[in-house]
Amino acid sequence: MKLPYAEPFKIKSIEMLKRTTKEERVKLIKEADYNLFNLKSDYVYVDLLTDSGTGAMSDKQWAEIMIGDESYAGARSYYKLKNTIKDLLGFNYFLPTHQGRAAENVLFSVLVKEGDIVPGNSHFDTTKGHIEFRKAKAVDCTIEEAFDSTFIHPFKGNVDIIKLEKVLQENPIEKIPMVIMTLTNNTSGGQPVSMANLKEVSILCKKYGTKLIIDSARFAENSYFVKIREDGYQDKTIKEIVKETFSYADGMTMSSKKDAIVNMGGFIGLKDEELFKQASTFNIIYEGFITYGGMSGRDMGALAQGLDEGTEFDYLESRIKQVAYLGQKMKDYGIPVMEPFGGHAIFVDAKKFFPHIPQSEYSAQLLGVELYIEGGVRGVEIGTLLADRDPVTREDRYPKLELLRLAIPRRVYTNNHMDYIAASLKNVFDRRDEYKHGLKILDEAPIMRHFTVKLDRI
Ligand SMILES: *Cc1c(COP(=O)(O)O)cnc(C)c1O
Repeated sequence: MKLPYAEPFKIKSIEMLKRTTKEERVKLIKEADYNLFNLKSDYVYVDLLTDSGTGAMSDKQWAEIMIGDESYAGARSYYKLKNTIKDLLGFNYFLPTHQGRAAENVLFSVLVKEGDIVPGNSHFDTTKGHIEFRKAKAVDCTIEEAFDSTFIHPFKGNVDIIKLEKVLQENPIEKIPMVIMTLTNNTSGGQPVSMANLKEVSILCKKYGTKLIIDSARFAENSYFVKIREDGYQDKTIKEIVKETFSYADGMTMSSKKDAIVNMGGFIGLKDEELFKQASTFNIIYEGFITYGGMSGRDMGALAQGLDEGTEFDYLESRIKQVAYLGQKMKDYGIPVMEPFGGHAIFVDAKKFFPHIPQSEYSAQLLGVELYIEGGVRGVEIGTLLADRDPVTREDRYPKLELLRLAIPRRVYTNNHMDYIAASLKNVFDRRDEYKHGLKILDEAPIMRHFTVKLDRI
């Protein structure tokens, strides 16, 4: 008999979960104003709100917590991280920050000015937030195939080179401080970018004289997809692919809470000394001195170890196979999910799930609410609430895809949990015609409203 796949690790420490009844959850979600961010995690059984900062650290990472050096300047843990970033990613200069958006804040404080244009492949919400906050514009150049949730394409995170070149041609280049490539593409479904595409983008950036910055949160998962899907990479190690990935970039911002498998942290990697010097000033103002920038020594140690573990094939295989296991279960139940499955999450297509509920009634949010009520499973809306209002017209922006994202924390849940999630969603799916209306907004913040929005049933 062929042996089944099994995880390359065993469990050393566990955390007990609370269970609630369906009746309790009906009340709890109402009290939370139908906003899943407002729920107490004690009342969530399987938490798929995000894969950010929710991973389980390894024994070796916990060991780093113990041996961390908390010196204000020049800490041993800082040098451990600096050397890892140099060896693994190839950046000579780096600045620690407290998380990914802080890295964006520091770097964009140097690079982005009012009226600027920043093209890329579906910028992440905080990235877009930091661009728009500076009165600049994020231009999405992702390939059209990415917006068809069932179109099979191995690299749906790719940029449309023609669209990108048009933006570079039609605008004064001094208005385009950089192109941002997000690996993997979070907003359009955790979809990878091919090495060939990244290379082409870097050639364009050089041709027109702008920088290529990689928003790197899931660079390791991206490298796994390159290895298994792109010609010429099958025999390369993940670490070799990672090295090549960053060889095309001038800089990177990192949310270490994703592929570096720590609970908090971020950093900026740079090749240019002058840019590093300019960014250092902002790092000191916003984050902390340049050898700790918002991180404890022990956390920098755990991050260095996490970067090393997170770029090992065996780990990545277990990770991505678990996500695909969940996706396949749902597909088998007939639930409309985005394909191919992304690296960190399964995305349920709310327009197809609830075809009778318009986007103006936040159908993906409704789906999230109903999944919580059914099984105590918490996902997150990646749709109209997240897309927010147009900064000029203040009208709701309707994205092409209205999705419920089920993000899988790293090394946290078992495949029994995946079975439970799929069954919960199937029960909602079987009753889908009974839901007549979606949700309406009672109160919202002027920017990044999805975190605090108050909703009610229509
Ligand atoms: C999470 C994330 C960020 C922001 O990082 P935080 O650590 O949450 O501040 C930026 N870009 C991408 C692609 C992300 O996934």
